[in-house]
Amino acid sequence: SVLVVGAVNVDLVVHTPRIAPPGETIIATGSTTVAGGKGGNQAVAVSRLGGACALVARVGAGFDYGSLDGVDVTRVRQDPAPTGLAIVMLDARGENAITVVPGANANLAPDDVGELTGAGVVLASLEVPLETVAEAGRRAAAAGWTFVLNPAPTGPLPSSLLAQVDVLVPNEHELALLGPPETLLARGVGTVVVTLGSAGCRVHRPDSVTEFPAHPVRAVDTTGAGDAFCGALAWALDAGRDLDDAVRLACAAGALATRAVGARASLPTAAEVTALAAS
Ligand code: ADP
Repeated sequence: SVLVVGAVNVDLVVHTPRIAPPGETIIATGSTTVAGGKGGNQAVAVSRLGGACALVARVGAGFDYGSLDGVDVTRVRQDPAPTGLAIVMLDARGENAITVVPGANANLAPDDVGELTGAGVVLASLEVPLETVAEAGRRAAAAGWTFVLNPAPTGPLPSSLLAQVDVLVPNEHELALLGPPETLLARGVGTVVVTLGSAGCRVHRPDSVTEFPAHPVRAVDTTGAGDAFCGALAWALDAGRDLDDAVRLACAAGALATRAVGARASLPTAAEVTALAAS
């Protein structure tokens, strides 16, 4: 099974003609509230693909568990702090400015990860405390699970954590902050999979670099493409696919996730992903 460790947020998207500079007030045209957070998005991505998926997360009082449809939420704990909140200012040209209030996510503790039994894949991202992600990596290694880390948002990562990572999945921006793939591999990462948006992705191993083209789609909103990619990668590895196969399926999932507005609205099913990957 797949165990996702990461943040759950409520995204308040404010549609505004332009983003207000400091000190100025602007009247918005409207707002939309959607479920978000990389942990929640990635867990729902796995579940939409039909994979067994549990989520390790913290939420506040009144959280809508319906937003995690199909996900095992027995490791989602209620925290005294409110559910994480992302304020997304979205202007008429599609440019955005985002402020995240971590809330309950900041209190996700190493003990929340729980036991790992059988075989599986841990998929973690970095909107939650690093010590909790490091504990997830240690437990994955001890239990023989595969550890996939989506280093987003990124910052300097300790070598002790990188050494636990089987597959590191940064986008280009995150890679620029993390350092060259060769250095990451030398610091103990098994494989680096760099997502390149509409250019697909590139897989760096110690002895090779492989390019995977993107599937041409008419992208409506690329928010959450990376989460769909990571969720599909974890799902495919858990199903026993080799890494190249898993990356092909993940590219298809990322492309399909751009079809509608919002991170979760167009997450694909297994049938959609396998059909596109085979095309
Ligand atoms: P993030 O959302 O984390 O920035 P990317 O934008 O790199 O991640 O997208 C993740 C993956 O989704 C890409 O590697 C690619 O396979 C797919 N993808 C994203 N945008 C597009 C697009 N416009 N057309 C086709 N595939 C896309």
